[in-house]
Amino acid sequence: MGGRHRVTLIPGDGIGPEVSAAARLVLNAAVSGIEWIEREAGAIALAEHGELLPENTLESIRTSRVAIKGPITTPVGSGFRSINVALRQELDLFAAVRPARSLPGVPTRHGAVDLVVIRENTEDLYRGVEFAAGSPQAGALREELRRLAGFEIRPDAGVTVKPISVAGTRRIVRFAFEHAKANRRRRITVGHKASIMPTSDGLFLRTARERTSEPGDVSFEDMQIDHLTAHLVREPRRFDVLLLPNLYGDILSDLCAGLVGGLGLIPGANIGWEYAVFEPVHGSAPDIAGRGVANPIAMILSGAMMLRHLGELDGASAVERAVDAVLDAGDVRTPDLGGSSSTMDVAGAIAAALPR
Ligand code: NAD
Repeated sequence: MGGRHRVTLIPGDGIGPEVSAAARLVLNAAVSGIEWIEREAGAIALAEHGELLPENTLESIRTSRVAIKGPITTPVGSGFRSINVALRQELDLFAAVRPARSLPGVPTRHGAVDLVVIRENTEDLYRGVEFAAGSPQAGALREELRRLAGFEIRPDAGVTVKPISVAGTRRIVRFAFEHAKANRRRRITVGHKASIMPTSDGLFLRTARERTSEPGDVSFEDMQIDHLTAHLVREPRRFDVLLLPNLYGDILSDLCAGLVGGLGLIPGANIGWEYAVFEPVHGSAPDIAGRGVANPIAMILSGAMMLRHLGELDGASAVERAVDAVLDAGDVRTPDLGGSSSTMDVAGAIAAALPR
């Protein structure tokens, strides 16, 4: 018999399988009738299927429409394309949503932080338009740039192109305003560097401003990304929704994770018009993988976001309250929060804190 909700689960690698098992335990305890369809991606998929992102993984997400995934390792500088980026582009998951809120019993410099980063997920420097230094393509590009506009690029330069479109920006702006309204948020702050990159960041800003002429309860402001970063570390409570192009969104979501206690706590969602893939902000943490000590809370809270998306509002709130209760009690914690409990101890405590 099929469950009420079909969900594709991609455990990932590194600490991914550990935090995935933990999240599955908690979500099954919170809501009955989730049918899990487990699929692979990353190094494990390459070994078993000869592909990093097998078609049957994508097909499963297209069928279930909703997926939750653990982190996947991307070797740095190897020319190996990030599976996470590929997945967002294949499924057109154009909006990343990353809430950062202060959690009980987690000491941080600033209390009462409650903001959400909304990041454009498909364009900008992450579009994957890359020209390797010394390649014939980079050579042809240099020639063309010189011919077109007299630009000189050094012959030993690698080049990454930064496309930001009106259509791509309009949909993320619309998404951000709708998200703000639906979640009773009051203010959107757009981060950019329009003074230095008027054609890409400037376009993002001008397109976002189009929307602000419409009446509504959500106010709008913009800030140069460097000023925004300085304000954020000094006065994070001043912010509500941060709307950012891809690269700045990636960096600031880790900064916001740091503001509220670390990567092990921050959930995330990648959302498109058709599909949604939920995942923690953290990576595969190879330094602690296989030891059973990874903090599962980011993955469990990603699961709560998924439950809300599936319409399981009570289940989602119950999971969030159970996480708060366990953090507040303080005796069951993983080492990143100063405790000595295991990943599954934390999951067990959260499951036990759910209403019966
Ligand atoms: P990371 O997030 O894996 O780790 C950074 C630090 O935070 C490490 O010290 C790690 O031990 C700690 N940490 C992260 N998650 C934790 C958790 N749940 N509990 C306790 N400690 C935790 O970042 P990284 O080291 O830059 O990246 C490692 C790999 O992960 C890279 O290959 C990267 O490409 C990949 N990555 C994947 C995703 C994804 O799949 N969405 C996201 C980011 C990074």
